[in-house]
Amino acid sequence: MTQVAFYRVYTFSAAHRLDIPEKEAEANRELFGKCNNPNGHGHDYTLGIGLIGPPDPETGMVIPLSEFDRLVHEVIDPLDHKHLNEEIDYFKIHRSTGEEIVQYLWLQLQRKFGNKVFRIKLWETNNNYFELERMQ
Ligand SMILES: [Zn+2]
Repeated sequence: MTQVAFYRVYTFSAAHRLDIPEKEAEANRELFGKCNNPNGHGHDYTLGIGLIGPPDPETGMVIPLSEFDRLVHEVIDPLDHKHLNEEIDYFKIHRSTGEEIVQYLWLQLQRKFGNKVFRIKLWETNNNYFELERMQ
């Protein structure tokens, strides 16, 4: 059966701080730059999600848009306008880098969509993004 990939883009905003407490302040500033700001700072994240699967014979769609939106918002709304380090348990253990945030999102989206999650991209700024893709 033909598999079709469907992509949709979402946005959320969150604050974070990157800091390794065992390192000197100067070393943290050097390593993390603006993301080491003592009170944290914010990013407007853009998340692209690709689902893949055979279009449903009745609807002709990989997934109904309303269902896709509802499940994605269950994942991203808890992050929106939050300080990741202080309010999201995962980031009390993992650093709130783009690399870690994209892995967190991947795990959460797999819980909602299973193997249909094919690729996700997380833009932290206009110039850098992080990507995870399902191994075939
Ligand atoms: Zn930052």
